Amino acid sequence: MTTAVTSPFRFFPLHVVRTMRLSPSLVRVTFGGAELDAFACGGRDQSVSLFLPHPGQPEPVVPVEEGDGWWRAWRQLPDGVRAVMRSYTVRGQRHNPDGSSEIDIDFALHGRPDAPGATHTTATVLREAVPAGPASRWAARASPGDRALVLGPAVADNSAVRFRPPADTDLVVLCADETALPAVAGILESLPPGLRVRAWCEVPCDADRQDLSTRADAHITWLVRETGAPRLDTTLRDAQLPATAAPYAWVAGESSQVKSVRRHLVGERGFDRGRVTFVGYWRRGLSEEQLRAEAEAARAAAA
Ligand SMILES: Cc1cc2nc3c(=O)[nH]c(=O)nc-3n(C[C@H](O)[C@H](O)[C@H](O)COP(=O)(O)OP(=O)(O)OC[C@H]3O[C@@H](n4cnc5c(N)ncnc54)[C@H](O)[C@@H]3O)c2cc1C
Repeated sequence: MTTAVTSPFRFFPLHVVRTMRLSPSLVRVTFGGAELDAFACGGRDQSVSLFLPHPGQPEPVVPVEEGDGWWRAWRQLPDGVRAVMRSYTVRGQRHNPDGSSEIDIDFALHGRPDAPGATHTTATVLREAVPAGPASRWAARASPGDRALVLGPAVADNSAVRFRPPADTDLVVLCADETALPAVAGILESLPPGLRVRAWCEVPCDADRQDLSTRADAHITWLVRETGAPRLDTTLRDAQLPATAAPYAWVAGESSQVKSVRRHLVGERGFDRGRVTFVGYWRRGLSEEQLRAEAEAARAAAA
């Protein structure tokens, strides 16, 4: 029997299978789910909307029974009831010999432990007194059996895969902070042998550096905040890039850094703006819902 896919995205119920602390700032949560066989990860920087419960709730509250009307119904729920919705990257997917399927999501933990709600120990390198957000708090405490929900891909070629170098690309430039490290890892794994790549990854601690595997001809530069390394945008300004005819850049992380890197690539290095994919993964001082509200207000004002 074949199932007609009418939308590239659908909900998948999840439960935590296990967690693994990858480094001081990153924790991997492996999720299982009875329907994950149909989860069609597009690889590279495949992102999803993850729904998490508030403390004390057994599962995230999302009115999935409303079908296409779920969003409106979800928005109408009270703040403390409506599930927390956040964007994350699928770091891996596997189908196990026992027939089960799993996906991995790597969460960057943030926030100071002395700020209300913060949960982890990287405070020495996080200089701002911002409490951890609900997703970071959830991930730091996740344990087997915890329930979540994901709005994820039902088809592998979907709009939540943004890394799309044109066919003639002869140099890939990657710029990321720790939130975009899972995406960089997926992108590097997807690249063909020999393709030139220059990557800059900014992480809080030296121990957050990862072994990134790729067949591409990749030079990876780590910028470690705890050692006082210059920020991504400053570093890129001073970097020498190979002379090429058709470069493509992918930039993700904190919004102001992303904007600054993009401005530099397009304005000062002459990259074709259509060959720079840039995504603000988070913005200092604003939660993801505040960012969404701001984007909606801007859309409404433009209309
Ligand atoms: C397409 C996409 C893919 C993403 N993939 C990943 C991923 O794979 N792994 C990952 O960890 N993140 C990823 N992110 C970023 C993640 O969605 C945000 O960091 C999110 O804000 C975390 O939610 P929260 O509830 O912890 O914090 P929020 O409630 O959203 O924010 C609370 C406060 O914390 C600040 N904040 C948020 N994130 C950070 C941070 N990393 N460091 C310091 N301060 C922060 C905010 O500015 C705000 O002041 C992705 C974002 C997008 C758009």
